[in-house]
Amino acid sequence: MHTILVTGGAGYIGSHTVKRLLDAGYKVIVADDLSTGHASAVDKRAVFYQLDVRDNQAFGNVLDQEQVEAVLHCAGKIVVSESVKEPLKYFHHNVSGLNEVLKVVAEKGIKKFMFSSTASIYGNNCFNIKAVETTQVAPTNPYAASKHIGEQMIHWVSERYQMNYVIFRYFNVAGAEMDASNGLRTENPTHLVPSINLTLLGKRPVFEIFGDDYQTADGTCIRDYIHVCDLARAHQLGMDYLFNGGQSTVFNLGTEQGYSVKQVADTAERITGIPLNVKISERRSGDPDFVLANAGKARERLDWVPEHSLEEIIQSDFHWRKQF
Ligand code: UDP
Repeated sequence: MHTILVTGGAGYIGSHTVKRLLDAGYKVIVADDLSTGHASAVDKRAVFYQLDVRDNQAFGNVLDQEQVEAVLHCAGKIVVSESVKEPLKYFHHNVSGLNEVLKVVAEKGIKKFMFSSTASIYGNNCFNIKAVETTQVAPTNPYAASKHIGEQMIHWVSERYQMNYVIFRYFNVAGAEMDASNGLRTENPTHLVPSINLTLLGKRPVFEIFGDDYQTADGTCIRDYIHVCDLARAHQLGMDYLFNGGQSTVFNLGTEQGYSVKQVADTAERITGIPLNVKISERRSGDPDFVLANAGKARERLDWVPEHSLEEIIQSDFHWRKQF
């Protein structure tokens, strides 16, 4: 049985991935400072350490004690609009934080590393095309820039220390476990699907569309929405790949299906049968018009095929939220 440590394993993507890794037979150690994560999201089968991964001593002790063979680094800040307002916070957590993690990973001789990156590093360069991993990156906000820097750091550290890595560029992750046992726990989420569902559930007065004058058919931004459980499975396949001797590489994780903000809102209204109170607001800074994946590489090399539809993404998040 291989042992994997997941940083940020109490967070949204981390906790769904932890479950999937455990289901596949990995031993999973979670390191999370609970600054945004929740201990209750961590699967009981995992070993949990509450620590800041920038604490070299504490982090190194856990790697030794648990004989960790691979690290999945999910910990980080992820809100684009916040990053525009507080860029240094993003460089602190996502760049300095990664630097500290890599320092200890290299020192302890860990040779397998997996990293949560983002499709937003393509910026507007995938306008009207499906981004492939070789599409030129062009971050349009500090969050994307911090992930782009992170990718380069991992590349150079792996060259020096003969570490193999898988970097995943996530498109728009949303949804919850289909049995509503886990989902996004963020107090006041800013992402599209939870914002729509919170309005449908009467917990927000109005859903704001941030700009309807983009260069798309209906004027609202187009994104590629991927179910969190499909994403979690990709991580398990990525770990299998690394443990089978796979070489360092980058994979896009998306469905290759684009939906506009208006289409997502209309779908949510249709499947819940609840009318949505919508208002058109100003554009949000840093938003590209169009972000869509070509995920052929993950399909071919990892045998990964996303299974969940947009309807399931919206519905699972809705059921998850309805409980509270
Ligand atoms: N969006 C919106 N209203 C909201 C939240 C998001 O119109 O309340 C739009 C946002 O401007 C973007 C798309 O939905 O065009 C996806 O945004 P999200 O924050 O979910 O993810 P991002 O693409 O920024 O990572």
